[in-house]
Amino acid sequence: MSNIAGRKPGVSNVETSPIAFVGLGMMGLPMASRLVGAGFAVRGSDLSAEARDGFIAKGGTAFDNARQAAEGVSVLITMLPNGKIVRDALLGADGAVGVLPPGALVIDMSSSAPMETRQLAADLAAKGISLIDAPVSGGVRRAADGSLAIMAGGDSAEIERARPILEAMGKSVIATGPIGSGHAVKALNNYVSAAGLAAACEAAIIAEKFGVDPNVLVDVLNVSTGRNNSTELKMKPIVLSGSFASGFAMALMAKDLRIAADLAVELAIEAEGARDAAALWAQASVALGREADHTEIYRFLAARRGKS
Ligand code: NAD
Repeated sequence: MSNIAGRKPGVSNVETSPIAFVGLGMMGLPMASRLVGAGFAVRGSDLSAEARDGFIAKGGTAFDNARQAAEGVSVLITMLPNGKIVRDALLGADGAVGVLPPGALVIDMSSSAPMETRQLAADLAAKGISLIDAPVSGGVRRAADGSLAIMAGGDSAEIERARPILEAMGKSVIATGPIGSGHAVKALNNYVSAAGLAAACEAAIIAEKFGVDPNVLVDVLNVSTGRNNSTELKMKPIVLSGSFASGFAMALMAKDLRIAADLAVELAIEAEGARDAAALWAQASVALGREADHTEIYRFLAARRGKS
């Protein structure tokens, strides 16, 4: 391709073919832009005209639906709100599968449900198309600087085939096991992350009511055993500042926690913590509405405890 710049010698065909990227939202836009910056020809797709325009401004091309974006590609990436939407973008009315050639590779980087991913892989395999799941952690900031953590499930040869693409978006690409395992690990990561954030928020609310400045509490946590990603990166700049602008929606976190809790049920594991977390975040998501950021769990907890 004419716009491949600075690629290493001996790269696979995957690297020199155009790539379709479906879902140019908070995460998809910076991730697809990283691929453009690395020299890939990227055919983006999003339902939103604003998202498409944003990607064109970054040097990509953009189409109304997944099928148009998939014309002439052998690798298609999805970065969509959930696995049902991924399935529809592939196998629905304007689905990409209608134009993907046999041997094509689909990489689902969304945070989807692992059992649904297994079914999708079987349905795509029946059409000669491979699927790997490669969800990400790190949020919008790390999507923009290309340092995402990527957890990849599926056939190891297909993961290696995807690796040059994934490495343009992430700093670590960890193979997690069979198909769906990346999605399982991602949901479990977000359970642990959400639990850490909710605990830090509760602790701040309790400390403040006792008369301790919550910023001082966070300072103590960060040099003590209570330190976690939220105490370090979210509590002061995003929660206590009142900005609540992490770029990761509460509804998406609630979805991830539901996936983690459901996975435990499907595996016949009694997981009280995951179940309670899923219930808490589902209530918060309903109470605060579709636009709420996930860090607004602080506002929800504070209101429940009688603090405005
Ligand atoms: P988002 O809502 O900002 O973006 C989703 C995009 O998909 C939107 O632009 C929407 O218009 C588009 N879309 C929906 N249906 C479509 C379709 N059928 N065809 C084409 N485009 C369609 O969400 P996001 O924050 O970018 O998250 C995307 C995925 O990444 C989710 O699964 C989320 O759980 C996961 N994730 C998000 C973050 C984060 O910090 N925001 C971090 C890690 C993982």
